[in-house]
Order: sequence, then C-alpha cells, then structure tokens
Amino acid sequence: MHLKRAFYIGRFQPFHKGHESVITSISKEVDELVIGIGSAQRSHEISNPFTAGERTMMIRHALEDADIQHYALPIDDLQQNAVWVSYVTSRTPPFDIVYSNNPLIIQLFEEAGVEVKQPPIYIRDKYSGTEIRRRMLENEEWHHLVPRAVADVIEEIGGVKRLKNVSGTDCME
Ligand code: ATP
Ligand code: MG
Repeated sequence: MHLKRAFYIGRFQPFHKGHESVITSISKEVDELVIGIGSAQRSHEISNPFTAGERTMMIRHALEDADIQHYALPIDDLQQNAVWVSYVTSRTPPFDIVYSNNPLIIQLFEEAGVEVKQPPIYIRDKYSGTEIRRRMLENEEWHHLVPRAVADVIEEIGGVKRLKNVSGTDCME
C-alpha cells in the first residue's frame, strides 16, 4: 500500500497554533507528514532563539495526540536555492506533496515538478512567530498563542529569559 506523505517546512521559532491548525488540515488529506525544521543550525538569536533539538521537542509534544504520523527533521540552511529541493529530499522520507504559502518554496518545488498546495491561513496577525517573540520580549501574554505542550517546553528551557538575554547588548559599554 502506498501511503500519501506530505512535506511542510518552517522555522518554528516557536511552534504555534497557526502551525498546529495547518497540520490539522493537512492531516485530513494525507496519511503521514514530514516536518522540516528549517534554519536548523540557528539558535540563541533574537529571530531564532530555539535550537533544532528544542523545536523537535516542541513539535513532538504538541502533536502527541494528533491523528497523523509525523517525522520532524532538522534542515540546515543551504545558501544555494537551485539545488535546495534535492538537498531537502536527500534528507527526508519521500513525499508526494508539499504544503506551503512561502513563494520561494512554492517556486522551487514547482520547478522540480512537485505538487504544491497552499494551506489556509489561520489568523496570521495573531498566530505568528514574530508576534509571539515580540510579546515575550515586552512581557505581554503569549501562552495562549502556542499549544500547552509548547509553553511547557519553553518554560523548561528558560526560553523567555534566553530570548531577552540574546536580544540585549553589553550593558558595560
Ligand atoms: P516568523 O514570524 O518567525 O517567520 P511564522 O509564524 O511565519 O514565524 P514559520 O516557522 O516561519 O512561522 O512558519 C512556517 C510556515 O507556516 C510558513 O510557511 C508560514 O507561512 C506558515 N504559517 C505561519 N503562521 C501561520 C498561520 N497563522 N496560518 C497559516 N500558516 C501559517
Ligand atoms: Mg515566517
């Protein structure tokens, strides 16, 4: 039997309810999901506070009760768009379809002859990594924007304190 497998990539800094909603809609259409954790090599930066391992943990716990089998894999950046699709497919289980709203990702997969679908957008101004990191830095409420399990991981690793520290400058100068 051939299982239909989809690919979905993001930086997941952090994994939030917008991502969760996209995955819920994908899971109605395919049997398995390959999740690429993009810019995997980045961490401890204001736009990329969490490591690939921490993001793997967020996704594993957030999707514990989801009714789709998933593989979350780190994908480091490759500064060479022309060969990016073969780079990705060399590191992932085979997939039949890509879900993305990112114009570059859509362009690259379509050029390679891979089917691409655009998932529905879920209240984008609220459910966005940028907005969640801004709230963390400004001591505004953010927990309700991420799955409970993700909030627990962020607490466990001291994520908010780290984000504040890496966004600061040397106070002795
Ligand atoms: P950042 O602001 O840090 O870029 P983000 O919210 O865009 O974070 P990404 O990890 O960049 O999160 O997103 C991965 C993919 O998920 C992107 O293609 C993005 O378009 C999509 N996505 C993000 N938020 C939503 C949402 N609320 N509804 C639907 N798709 C979303
Ligand atoms: Mg984004």
